[in-house]
Amino acid sequence: MESLDELLRKAEAAHGHLCAGQILGVRMALLGLARLGIADPRGAARRRFVTYVEIDRCATDAISLVTGCRLGKRALKFRDWGKMAATFVDTASGRGVRIVALEDSRELARELYPHLASEGSKQMQAYRELSDAQLFREQRVRVDIHGAEMPGSRGKRAVCPRCGESVNFGRFEQADGERLCLSCARPELRYWTPEDTEKGGNREQ
Ligand SMILES: [Zn+2]
Ligand SMILES: [Zn+2]
Repeated sequence: MESLDELLRKAEAAHGHLCAGQILGVRMALLGLARLGIADPRGAARRRFVTYVEIDRCATDAISLVTGCRLGKRALKFRDWGKMAATFVDTASGRGVRIVALEDSRELARELYPHLASEGSKQMQAYRELSDAQLFREQRVRVDIHGAEMPGSRGKRAVCPRCGESVNFGRFEQADGERLCLSCARPELRYWTPEDTEKGGNREQ
């Protein structure tokens, strides 16, 4: 495994800046990989593990960079829970470790580095120097990943009878006696409202 500094250089380049979140994310990922016994996440273990992240902030980029688990490969799973937490899973055994950043570490950073000017620089220093036990709580977990959710799973594609849009990976729900896409089955989930009449497409109604 590369050193913390090497990984932080790469994380900074990929993310656009170096921040406390990058350091925390790199540390979290290094700990997760160590617990799974993975020394080279881009080597043979690449297809053997999946990472769940519970927040979409700076640290998430760093976790993805260090683990090589990416959204587009279905190896990075996002749960929008607003928590600075991630779970690293060995898909062969279903065993994993969930790691949560401790709230105390912010307080500790303030106490330890009062001479540093900004809150951010205190945190960055703390996230470099504190031990894993000071920064994180970890918990052994089991994660049963359904075959269709695994990286590399192709899944079937089918058309929603209501909107005519193609849907992958079986993301349908039964509603009103039909198998509908999620935005038709549960309009409250929609993040958009139509502004004007639809353009494009070749569907006849
Ligand atoms: Zn950042
Ligand atoms: Zn639909």
